Amino acid sequence: MSKIDGSGKRCIAAAYLEDVETIVRELDSDTRAGLSSAQAQLRLSRDGANELRTQPVKPAWHYLLAQFRDPLVYLLLVAVAITLVTWLLVEGREWPVDAVVITLIVLANALLGFIQETRSQRAVAALAKLTQTTSSIIRDGVLSRIPSHQLVIGDLLVLSEGDSVGADARLIQANALRVLEASLTGESEAVSKNAVRLRIEVPLAERSNMVFKGTAIAQGSGLGVITAIGMATELGAIAHLLDVTPEEVTPLQKEVREIGRMLAIAVLVIASFVVVAVLMLTQIHSVDDVLRVLLLGVSLAVAAVPEGLPAVLSLVLAFGVQRMARNKAIIKQLSSVETLGSASVICTDKTGTLTRSEMTIQQTRTASGNVAVSGVGYAPQGQIHHQDQPMTCGPVHSENVLLLRGGSLAGNAALAQQEDGTWVIQGDPTEGAFLVAERKLDAPPRSIERFERVAEIPFTSDRKMMSALVIDHEHNDERLLISKGAPDVLLQHCTQVQVGMDVVPLTDDLRAKAVADVNELSGAALRTLSVAYRPLATSEDGAAGEALETGLIFIGTVGIIDPPRKEVAPAITEAHRAGIRIIMITGDHPRTATRIAEDLGIIQAGAGALTGADLDKLDDAALAEAVKSNSVYARVAPSHKLRIVDALQAQGHVVAMTGDGVNDAPALKSANIGIAMGITGTEVTKQAGKMILADDNFATIVLAIREGRGILDNIRKFLRYLLSSNMGEVLTVFLAVVGAGVIGLVDEKGGIILPLLATQILWINLITDAAPAIAMGIDPHSEDLMTRSPRRPTDRIIDARMWGGVLQVGLVMALASLLTVDWMLPGGLIAGNESLVEARTAGFTVLVLAQLFNALCARSESASALVGLFANRWLWGAIALATALQIAVVHWSPLNKAFDTSALTLSQWGLCLAMASAVFWFSELRKLGMRLHQGKAIRHQKLRFF
Ligand code: ATP
Repeated sequence: MSKIDGSGKRCIAAAYLEDVETIVRELDSDTRAGLSSAQAQLRLSRDGANELRTQPVKPAWHYLLAQFRDPLVYLLLVAVAITLVTWLLVEGREWPVDAVVITLIVLANALLGFIQETRSQRAVAALAKLTQTTSSIIRDGVLSRIPSHQLVIGDLLVLSEGDSVGADARLIQANALRVLEASLTGESEAVSKNAVRLRIEVPLAERSNMVFKGTAIAQGSGLGVITAIGMATELGAIAHLLDVTPEEVTPLQKEVREIGRMLAIAVLVIASFVVVAVLMLTQIHSVDDVLRVLLLGVSLAVAAVPEGLPAVLSLVLAFGVQRMARNKAIIKQLSSVETLGSASVICTDKTGTLTRSEMTIQQTRTASGNVAVSGVGYAPQGQIHHQDQPMTCGPVHSENVLLLRGGSLAGNAALAQQEDGTWVIQGDPTEGAFLVAERKLDAPPRSIERFERVAEIPFTSDRKMMSALVIDHEHNDERLLISKGAPDVLLQHCTQVQVGMDVVPLTDDLRAKAVADVNELSGAALRTLSVAYRPLATSEDGAAGEALETGLIFIGTVGIIDPPRKEVAPAITEAHRAGIRIIMITGDHPRTATRIAEDLGIIQAGAGALTGADLDKLDDAALAEAVKSNSVYARVAPSHKLRIVDALQAQGHVVAMTGDGVNDAPALKSANIGIAMGITGTEVTKQAGKMILADDNFATIVLAIREGRGILDNIRKFLRYLLSSNMGEVLTVFLAVVGAGVIGLVDEKGGIILPLLATQILWINLITDAAPAIAMGIDPHSEDLMTRSPRRPTDRIIDARMWGGVLQVGLVMALASLLTVDWMLPGGLIAGNESLVEARTAGFTVLVLAQLFNALCARSESASALVGLFANRWLWGAIALATALQIAVVHWSPLNKAFDTSALTLSQWGLCLAMASAVFWFSELRKLGMRLHQGKAIRHQKLRFF
């Protein structure tokens, strides 16, 4: 039965036709203890990881070579090759220094690009690790959760609602298990599963005793033994389809690539113009002369075409995403960073996200009266008070004992005592609250053995209630159905009520009292849950499921306090200031929801809420109207979330939506940013979401939006820098050719003298491009980030105003550099008396220094460069490095030879610095003008309001 499949991995063929014992024996596993760790380790090394990957990972040299895959670089290398060949052919000629230097610079550039690319890849890979799926297994008899890629054949897989199935497994047990198999079979409805052996061969979709890798548990629970992993699974059989998912390109990356392409064309036209003009206007004596001009043209193109832009962009995005992960917001796709920056609405759950999910029962309401349960139920990290501390409760009625005990029995949580004597709640905090309150009762403790749980009708957010079937061993083995759930839901299943030791019919008056109790508790921001029960007839068993939940005896209601997280209210204020609407969507009672929403500042007092039932009555047009003003939705089912998202998106909103349960997955997928809860969220939601909130905390979403905005802001900063600097280089050469006569850049024979050499242009590109740009990409975020309105998704990253700035700054740079050359050379506008080498060195230095000044200015569109001048130490590091390298190129003789430069005097350095600083002064003046204009616009707006 066991076989080795094509990929070398073992699997059990047709496991659905075998009985469980045979399979478990064959796999040398155990239906209770599972495999031993040693066995698992051996199998992991024998069969490899449980992964679908089929394409080998590309080696590092592949990425290094890819750096040269650029037509301009080819052109440059061809020019260099021709230079070298002519040098080899003509004996006794001087070394072709230019060619060697250019080759070295091209190599250095490629190396820089390679480092950038591998770093950003490493950052993205590290993120993938944070979002890897996990599975519950039993090994050595112990239940634990491990990354799904570590699953081995023979492992016992424990399945519960919301789990993503990590491998193919034959079911050993199934409890109301329903599985979503759409990814494999295309069937959109969840299919029921059981552990019964099948006798005849059936297609995949009918293998009801198997679960398959890549599917999801929609409901219920189960236990299975893994029969196939990795490529041997059914999903593996179609993995070639999955493996070709193309590398993700974000809209921003697309836009930047487009800008790059456009600029490349512009630069190529200018470079060709320069080459043709110089060749036509200058006397050419040799092939060398032609080659030199060609080299200059191609170098200009290489330097000015922002070919490094996409790499810097992915690096900045990847760094940003890493920083977000450190702040507990795990982003799964780089594109979500952009979407986050544009988010205009956050739809959030209440419980656990806005509140602490530290549930303590504070009040009880039964037919016999009210009880205040005192004592803190929770200490911070989910611990409850020490057993010795006083646990008090008001006057105890028999209903109270029933209420709290019933609530405890109808749940799955447990209290576990730790080594230091403190107690912790294991499981759902709402259910744990019943256990804690029960311990506070001044009533005879129940023995653990008294009640035996034999079946469960599970809780879902749609049903909003759950039931347990228990046998009371101290009471003639009586079988009871105990239910707990949302009061309004549970009351519909009740026909009687417990009053003292008696059970009486639930009259309209008694029902009205119960509802009034609930309203009172929820009006005080308490979460309400009611408990009911009924003895079962001998003919009734758990197989009947939800049909059993009728004719229940209502016991009473508890009021649970779940305090808001303290960081949430300030985060909501910040979001509002940033033009982001907050909408609460909760399964809780409308009164509880509105009270908490008011307390947190989501709505104003008296604003009210819409319930799921209200939403059902609204058609799409009415809903579209309702979502404009309503910000609290209560008692909703997960399906309502989808409608709300759609209605908001139809109005042009960019929606961030949180979710935890498996049924939230469609809404999360549909939202622009689906946010899955990291702690309480199921695997399925985590897979559907684009972001995982590691701490389940609302404030982290606002933080992530701030970070997203900051990253976009920084991207604009380095684009502004790189484009204006490149513009400066192109314009310097272009204007030199066009205005050669005016500024004295002509030789005795009337030919054009170039202000820069090919090597110098490439040098500028090498030392001033990547490092300052990357440093700008990690610039500290500006103060006003969260006072601006959200960016519209249709907004271009570079708008007309920014293009204007790029052109103007580039022009100032070029003029400063050319005027310096003119200043030093005889003739032109300003007559000087220095040599051409010295003039070129000065012009070249001005261009480098002007770019460094520009680095300081490009950090903000309108704020002065002096604001937070020293905030970015990386930028200053990059500036210092570039300055040191420029000093070396001017004063170190080997570099003088390589770059055709000569030493400058101190006063010449002073001149260069002063000329280069024109960029700074110009930018400051331009920004001042902008600020004055903005101020006027704001004053204008204010005037209109008064
Ligand atoms: P949110 O959607 O903001 O997370 P929530 O946790 O209150 O809020 P649900 O989990 O859908 O939303 O719960 C809805 C209602 O169901 C609760 O108000 C409560 O009355 C009831 N309820 C919650 N948990 C349980 C449970 N474990 N057993 C029975 N009833 C529950």
